[in-house]
Amino acid sequence: MSRVPELFGSMVFNDSVMKERLPAEVYAAVKRTMQAGRHLHADIAGDVANAMKEWAIEKGATHYSHWFQPMTGVTAEKHDSFITPSKQHPDRVIMEFSGKELIKGEPDASSFPSGGLRATFEARGYTAWDPTSYAFIKDDTLYIPTAFCSYSGEALDKKTPLLRSMEAINRQAMRILKLFGNDDVTMVNTTVGPEQEYFLIDADVYAKRRDLLITGRTLFGAKPPKGQELEDHYFGAIKPRVMAFMQDLDEELWKLGVLAKTEHNEAAPAQHELAPIFTKSNIATDHNQLTMEMMKKVAARHGLVCLLHEKPFAGVSGSGKHNNWSLSTDTGVNLFEPGTSPHENAQFLLFLCAVIKATDDYQDLLRVSAAGAGNDHRLGAAEAPPAIVSMFLGEELTDILTSIENGTVYGGKEQTLMKVGVHALPRFPRDSTDRNRTSPFAFTGNKFEFRMLGSTASIANPNIILNTIVAESLSLFADELEQATDFNTALHDLIVRTIKAHKRIIFNGNGYDDVWIKEAEQRGLHNLRTTPDCLPHFADEANIKLFEKHRVFTRQEVHSRCEIMLENYRNVIRIEALTMLDMARKDILPAASAYVRALCDTVISKKAVIAVSGKCAEEDMVAHLSSLTDSLYSAIGKLDAVIQGEKALHSAIALAEYYRDRVVPAMQTLRKVADELEVHTAKSFWPYPTYDDILFSVS
Ligand code: ADP
Ligand code: MG
Repeated sequence: MSRVPELFGSMVFNDSVMKERLPAEVYAAVKRTMQAGRHLHADIAGDVANAMKEWAIEKGATHYSHWFQPMTGVTAEKHDSFITPSKQHPDRVIMEFSGKELIKGEPDASSFPSGGLRATFEARGYTAWDPTSYAFIKDDTLYIPTAFCSYSGEALDKKTPLLRSMEAINRQAMRILKLFGNDDVTMVNTTVGPEQEYFLIDADVYAKRRDLLITGRTLFGAKPPKGQELEDHYFGAIKPRVMAFMQDLDEELWKLGVLAKTEHNEAAPAQHELAPIFTKSNIATDHNQLTMEMMKKVAARHGLVCLLHEKPFAGVSGSGKHNNWSLSTDTGVNLFEPGTSPHENAQFLLFLCAVIKATDDYQDLLRVSAAGAGNDHRLGAAEAPPAIVSMFLGEELTDILTSIENGTVYGGKEQTLMKVGVHALPRFPRDSTDRNRTSPFAFTGNKFEFRMLGSTASIANPNIILNTIVAESLSLFADELEQATDFNTALHDLIVRTIKAHKRIIFNGNGYDDVWIKEAEQRGLHNLRTTPDCLPHFADEANIKLFEKHRVFTRQEVHSRCEIMLENYRNVIRIEALTMLDMARKDILPAASAYVRALCDTVISKKAVIAVSGKCAEEDMVAHLSSLTDSLYSAIGKLDAVIQGEKALHSAIALAEYYRDRVVPAMQTLRKVADELEVHTAKSFWPYPTYDDILFSVS
């Protein structure tokens, strides 16, 4: 393992490679561009492209690709080779890569979802290098991380708004830091460490399940005798095949500069987790996409399949992605670190209050940031945080806030005023992440952990929202404090007022408890249970104003994203419903009939050979199975009819609601009957591997 330091980042055109290979003045110009978050200037692009190409060719690359993140949620790429006919020797080629090719690409964009932003007849979008995210080599191809926009400048991807939101929070946080006299700071970055959950199953078993192949989750499957109730998998010894996979995965990720750090078994059988060391949000987002892609690829090498769906199996935990988020200065200070002096504490409290206010004011947007058909199976299903957004601060910090609000000393008997900026905060224990797993958004000592997100989703969405809503709180705070004559008093008042106004969002109890749902309602918090419930709020006027103010989304971009997400919800469920119909008709119904027939044959044979007095067991089974088969047949017919019923509807929201209210229940009915049939059908007749076969398929 001594070669890990050499391996790490070996396929990345990173800072040290640039320093080594670029002329000094070009290197300095690239650094300036990166720091300012600007596009690379055409003057120096040629030099950078050339150095990149030379480096890539030495590493065996033959192609390059602009790599982007359209609204599909996965990454997109289009490969071009470096070859160009040689001018001197027309029958030969040379390897070329120009500055223009580095900074701008023009993929045919007509088939990406745009929600009406870019009329398909134009079909034109362009990709532009995000120089703050390094180029890398994978599959003999030089990948250039890019943003994807329409020619009129509208964002068609997830990266552009993420970069805009990072700029927004930087602008506002800098105003606050100036007020506290942090003159050495020139930039505030958002940092993210996403913990990624996934399932690993055997590839042979997977190949026999059409539902997994087509939709990524099981649409049928009776509960196995053993699920996760013994809790023997969680942090358990890692099986050899899985261990080999994890080692291989780490190696691939390290080569790409991904800081893969922790790997362990998760709660459900066959479920695992990978956590990286945190990094800047846009890079963390790129790296999380690479991680998901590599998980699938490396799994295939080991005869495994990696399932990233939020709910591959009913009855055992689904998979999420914990988005650990913080703010840090370019001088290396984490702004959510409470510090020790009254001054540090005051600044910490103000940033903390900004998050409290943002979470309360924009609960709906945080909920939207984790929305999707797959994640609806988790949120509120007593295994993941509820669909209600609240914040966990821990008892101690909450008590401190209460004492500031009421002007009493925390933990003490004297009733003296606790003044922000004058008194030091009492020491409070750092909460471990595991203390309250039921909270959607937990403060964990020096960062916040947003836990609503599903395992498949890009982390761009929640980070766009977190950055923007906290930028808004900070901007309002700065507006007020910049006018103050007595800074400490104004600060104290602002903090007390913010706690009073927004403390309803703080909840340290059990989020899985039904009592919380009632209490949250009394507190006036949103409970937006499903994707069609929450998505329309994305385009609420207050939210559009927010995005426009911070230049994160235009009105049109918000509407188009809303449309895309609603359509996606309907499409996902429609594909699942059609897959169910197909499986039920072509495999399950015939299997049940064949088994009934075999039983009937047995009854006849039995009666021909021996004198059976009364009904034999097989006759009883035939009666039961044949009634279940009838129910299955009728459930198939109903689901089919319900799917046809969508034809009367046109708007994206009406369709999404229809799928939620009519199609999903019909799917559930069909599944219930089929699962019951599975329980009573001989294994040799059942057409699919069972939950046992799948969940315990890897040794
Ligand atoms: P655990 O949850 O296992 O106790 P940690 O709390 O240390 O582990 O970290 C969990 C995740 O949070 C890791 O991916 C880590 O990199 C990330 N993380 C830690 N500090 C920060 C930070 N300041 N900003 C963003 N993410 C962070
Ligand atoms: Mg965690």
